[in-house]
Amino acid sequence: MKVMVLGAGQLAQMMALAGAPLGISVVAYDVRTHSVVHPVTGQDYQQDLAAGINANDVITAEFEHIPHDILDQCQASGKFLPGDRAIRVGGDRRLEKQLLDGVNVPNARYQFLATKADLTAATQSIGLPLVLKSALDGYDGKGQWRLKSETEIDAVWAEIEEFLAHSSDNQSIVAEQWIPFNREVSVIGVRNKDGNIAVYPLTQNHHEAGVLSLSVAPATGENLQQQAVSAFEKIANELDYVGVLAIEFFDVDGQLLVNEIAPRVHNSGHWTQQGADCCQFENHLRAVCNLPLGSTELVRPTAMVNVLGIDSVHQKAMEIAGSHQHWYGKEQRAGRKMGHINVAGKDQTQMLAQLNALLTMLPEAEFPGLSTAIAKLP
Ligand code: ATP
Ligand code: MG
Ligand code: MG
Repeated sequence: MKVMVLGAGQLAQMMALAGAPLGISVVAYDVRTHSVVHPVTGQDYQQDLAAGINANDVITAEFEHIPHDILDQCQASGKFLPGDRAIRVGGDRRLEKQLLDGVNVPNARYQFLATKADLTAATQSIGLPLVLKSALDGYDGKGQWRLKSETEIDAVWAEIEEFLAHSSDNQSIVAEQWIPFNREVSVIGVRNKDGNIAVYPLTQNHHEAGVLSLSVAPATGENLQQQAVSAFEKIANELDYVGVLAIEFFDVDGQLLVNEIAPRVHNSGHWTQQGADCCQFENHLRAVCNLPLGSTELVRPTAMVNVLGIDSVHQKAMEIAGSHQHWYGKEQRAGRKMGHINVAGKDQTQMLAQLNALLTMLPEAEFPGLSTAIAKLP
């Protein structure tokens, strides 16, 4: 089988690595340079989108912010999975909110805004604090503002207007209730063409300045897995979804509220490379290639630490048993996701001990908040 991924980042790269032993070849279409490249070596195949679509059996995506003309062309080929509707919903918070409400999955209260008067109204109907999010193009907490008091409305709206002036057409803002969550969790699952679903154990996540910093699986908590699986089934079935889908939640006193969905393999699922029977990258390929799904069972508790902005860490970290480093080979830039480290243990206690051992080897300045987050783990 030959698969082309829209997007040429680390997720496409890890799909290529997972596909190789199965004899599945994975190439990437870089939507910025309009070229088909090898996601690991960067080799340029000198193909345009049409040639890339022709040369491959399946088209899929590693991110949701893809120009609609590209989505249309892929959809018309009949080879695109999970398909353009799922990608559009994942890339537009307005469609996402409508989908969640349509299938009765609890999410944060919201309102769509076009004017400052709408914002003022939202502070009344939803209450403060509010999180304001651009409907399109949001990732890693970009395009978000927080409104804590009515006195900030003018200043915050001025920032938003400035942002809107420089962003894509048909843009608007979603005002969302600020959720005082106990913690954040996510679920990664996979659905195939026959509608079969397999879901990984829930993952506990810690974000730092809107960017994922730490994921730990399994996240414990009574009844949480059932809530997550129920949300997954409703959303994936409604989208007639094929492939891996991620759902981020806020855990508020044991009740899961959906934050957002990602129609793709997800950073909070990287632990599955060491901690699950079949990792999310292999399972995504299996689903889109119409092969039997792999087991999503946890084989050992595993944590993942994101490495941002630096392209190496102490080699000593390799000495920690059960730790594995995954580097993306990207050019170094401040704050950029450069790689991640998975740490697995035979049980929760050993995993936490090894995670703490890793922590002592990481430069504190590059991993703000990590030690506090680890200390708070159950
Ligand atoms: P991603 O890279 O995950 O796609 P994103 O830019 O789409 O990120 P969100 O997931 O919407 O951003 O928000 C980023 C983080 O900001 C969340 O993980 C959470 O920590 C915080 N956050 C977002 N919305 C809320 C909210 N309504 N209440 C409280 N915290 C929130
Ligand atoms: Mg997002
Ligand atoms: Mg998010």
